[in-house]
Amino acid sequence: MNQDRIQNLIDSLRVLPGVGPKSAQRLAFTLLQYERDGAAQLAGAITDALAHLQHCQRCHTFTDQPICSTCANPKRNDALLCIVQSPMDQLLIEQTMTYNGLYFVLMGQLNPLEGKGPKDIAMDALITRVSDGEAPVTEAIIATHFTNEGELTAHYISEQLNTRGIRVTRLARGVPVGSELEQVDLGTLAQAMMGRQDS
Ligand code: ZN
Repeated sequence: MNQDRIQNLIDSLRVLPGVGPKSAQRLAFTLLQYERDGAAQLAGAITDALAHLQHCQRCHTFTDQPICSTCANPKRNDALLCIVQSPMDQLLIEQTMTYNGLYFVLMGQLNPLEGKGPKDIAMDALITRVSDGEAPVTEAIIATHFTNEGELTAHYISEQLNTRGIRVTRLARGVPVGSELEQVDLGTLAQAMMGRQDS
């Protein structure tokens, strides 16, 4: 039983990105030996987050309200919609201080080799968002990664939105090919946002 419990903890830690069998073992024993308070706090925070965080009805990011604080902010320009792959990417765009519109967070990217299709990027929710009539989107800015999967995702979304008569732009080049947004410095990202071009 004792061994099962430890093994269960080790196996559970392997859901973390980049954590293989060895790292999972090390993490498990570190938590048990030296970080018991921290481990309890972590377990509680995960349980609480899972119970209370859901997708924002408008932008699909995580929030504990039906509509997140960004979407609910009347100071934001609701005619602009920036489409990003993750909440982390949204944060990066915010940090460039070049954008005051709203967002849609895909929570993924198309990847045929891994079987990731339109469902995995919340395409239905995005289409609903741009056609719900609440505030017309005059420009959708696609800010996916500059990787093959990011390009594929951008191309697909661009087609879907273009057929619905929405102007689609993309972040300007100048960002190295193959980059995820996290690898791009904020100055370059700011220029890419300001110099965005029709897709
Ligand atoms: Zn939102």
